[in-house]
Amino acid sequence: MSTSYVINPPEIPSLPVEGDSKRFAVNRIYCVGRNYADHAREMGHDPDREPPFFFMKPATAIVTEGKEMAYPALSKDVHHEIEMVVALGKGGANIPADKALDHVWGYGVGLDMTRRDLQGEAKKMGRPWDTGKAFDQSAPCSALVPVSQCGHLAKGRIYLKVNGQVKQDGDLAMMIWNVPDTIAYLSTLFTLMPGDLIFSGTPAGVAAVARGDVLEGHVDGLPALKTKII
Ligand code: MN
Repeated sequence: MSTSYVINPPEIPSLPVEGDSKRFAVNRIYCVGRNYADHAREMGHDPDREPPFFFMKPATAIVTEGKEMAYPALSKDVHHEIEMVVALGKGGANIPADKALDHVWGYGVGLDMTRRDLQGEAKKMGRPWDTGKAFDQSAPCSALVPVSQCGHLAKGRIYLKVNGQVKQDGDLAMMIWNVPDTIAYLSTLFTLMPGDLIFSGTPAGVAAVARGDVLEGHVDGLPALKTKII
């Protein structure tokens, strides 16, 4: 017998899937903190490598491709952060890095929109980042592409145009913590679940947006993400 509820349960947040009428049900959104070094990592091991850190957004923060994003209340400094999104099809705890990619269902392009002024205040006060990071419509996201179509993405250009001008420009290979290492580490902190998304961090060039700005995010091999701030 199906569960009945005392209120109408809200709809499950979901993302469209490239080339499929079925959608990807979104469970949780994990975001990796600073995860790109300024330079390509051709020098090998980074002596300053620290464990990654994470914060979350609610799944309801998703804005689907092509939809507008409302400039959020109570901020005068909303920043764009272009990121590759990793969509998990399989959960687990303590996932070894050499098995981590088996848990990835697909990839997409996302924006970790940030009320930088509120985040800065929270940092200063030693308070949580939620008001700076986890607000309504803070996670515009492209359609997802299944691994069967795009393969696993470890290198390739990631960039963001604002009103046609490139503002952030990097390469996935510049990630300090690559996707397998990120999943492995995250799964020691949380039991991961199907439908979880991981926003994998942003390259340099984050800056403030204004109402009317058109943001266009790209990752090589994935569909573009376009949104307008209103
Ligand atoms: Mn970010």
